Amino acid sequence: MDNEKYRFLREKMVEEQIISRGISDKRVIEALRKVPRHIFVDKEYRDMAYEDRPLPIGAGQTISQPYIVALMTESLELTGKEKVLEIGTGSGYQVAILAELAKEVYTVEIITSLYERNKKLLSGYKNIKMSNHNGFLGWKEYAPYDRIIVTAAPDHIPQTFIEQLKDGGIMVIPVGPPGWNQVLYKVIKRSNNIKKISLCDVAFVPMTGNQYAENGGGNDKGIGEGN
Ligand code: SAH
Repeated sequence: MDNEKYRFLREKMVEEQIISRGISDKRVIEALRKVPRHIFVDKEYRDMAYEDRPLPIGAGQTISQPYIVALMTESLELTGKEKVLEIGTGSGYQVAILAELAKEVYTVEIITSLYERNKKLLSGYKNIKMSNHNGFLGWKEYAPYDRIIVTAAPDHIPQTFIEQLKDGGIMVIPVGPPGWNQVLYKVIKRSNNIKKISLCDVAFVPMTGNQYAENGGGNDKGIGEGN
């Protein structure tokens, strides 16, 4: 019975928040129709899971608004063959959507309690690998990736992510200070050329952890605003 109710709310979400706002990739729309977003939020928020807003998921973090998940996913141009890296597993919802649309997904979460929670929640997906470490390192072991999606905002594009992205690869990343002044970028890597396309203004939780982790605390020459 509950499932019926949530299916109805999910369909309504897809029609009113996703299709009507211009998301047109059929595979993305199907994935949003399929994945039960309510199981990725805490019980007390289940009835709000299909609303047009982000929701708290504990540890001060949030599950992104459905439209932003759809926009970021569509921007990755997935065909089903890709190896994808996600930074910021959070609720696990975005990675479940990616697992429906790509070959393999690698996801990194810095908060141990969220990582533990997701191990259970996502155990049904055989093409998801999770790790509990500082995402500023990317995930070197499985690099390079066809696609990278970052779901917490750093204040610049870390060079590590550029390095771990394949030539011809696409990255979607929010960049900016904590709060409302962030821009969502689609980044395309071609040879040594990095093309940045701004998609819209967004408000993500900040990326935490030492951003200089990889080079032992030195100056990370990341790609800043305006590059
Ligand atoms: N993709 C998520 C969005 C979660 S919010 C979803 O679908 O729900 C962003 C997440 O990024 C939070 O869980 C936060 O803990 C995590 N995060 C922040 N900084 C990080 C870092 N340096 N490395 C890995 N994860 C990080």
